Amino acid sequence: MEKSPYKDYYYILGVSQDATTQEIQEAYNDLYQKYGPHVTLGGLDPDSQIKAFRDLSEAYEVLMDPEKRREYDKNCAPHLQKGDLRALWTKFTGVGGGPKEEKKPKAVDTDQEIEVTLKEAVKGCTRQVRLEEPKPCDSCQGLKPVQRMQCPNCRGLGYTMSERIEEVELPAGLYEKAEVRKPALGKYDLQANARGDLILRVKLRPHQFLGVLGRDITLTVPVTVYEAVLGAEIEVPTATGKVIMKIQPLTQPGRVYRLKGLGLGGADQLVTVEVVLPQRLSDEEKRLFMRLQELSGNANPREAMFRP
Ligand SMILES: [Zn+2]
Repeated sequence: MEKSPYKDYYYILGVSQDATTQEIQEAYNDLYQKYGPHVTLGGLDPDSQIKAFRDLSEAYEVLMDPEKRREYDKNCAPHLQKGDLRALWTKFTGVGGGPKEEKKPKAVDTDQEIEVTLKEAVKGCTRQVRLEEPKPCDSCQGLKPVQRMQCPNCRGLGYTMSERIEEVELPAGLYEKAEVRKPALGKYDLQANARGDLILRVKLRPHQFLGVLGRDITLTVPVTVYEAVLGAEIEVPTATGKVIMKIQPLTQPGRVYRLKGLGLGGADQLVTVEVVLPQRLSDEEKRLFMRLQELSGNANPREAMFRP
């Protein structure tokens, strides 16, 4: 392999002069994967690619070998030429400024549970979300690791914890475990030097009377025997207030009425009728019930159970 004594191998690999062999290895792997001879790079003449790749291999070979590296540092470092290589790499990679593209790890998303009432789930709401996140230390940023160790502000961690309150809008039509994603509002990720997404997972706060079945809201409503028999218009609670619903005459206990669109996200509210009998009867009431029994002809609803 032909060697030019004036090539800046550190520059080619995009590493600093005190890079460890591991850093060099990683830089090489990264560049090889992106720009190696097996990669087709559009708009670049193959000769330049081969030449650039040859430089890369050369740089890697020399810097990975402690003996050769020492020799190189001693003889070549003062004479390094960056100009041509920069131009070549820019052409090669399409990115100006050097061969090593800043490889940005994606910031980690923040998952947080958020409890909402049924009313908020149906109508949407605004919430303040408290986020405790690391923040690069103001005092020791940019210092060398050794100096950072002594930083009294962060005790050498390089970051401090800080609190951020974020006001977020939750849309209408939420349901249990619904996921609301707010891009780049998550906790600060030190490694990525950016914020990931904030993912809010909905948890529905239990309601005194209303239940939830999938996206339907459920309600068991007591009615009197008279309402069940004669029919009635009754007021029932909903997620957002109340509505008047009609009980048909002769509604059997357990009958379910479906109130369209009053559930979560446009689903329904299911109202189960529960018939409540009187707790006690006056003599007059008792007489009237007995009269009703007579008038009914003493029909036996269990008859079918005993047919031969
Ligand atoms: Zn510090």
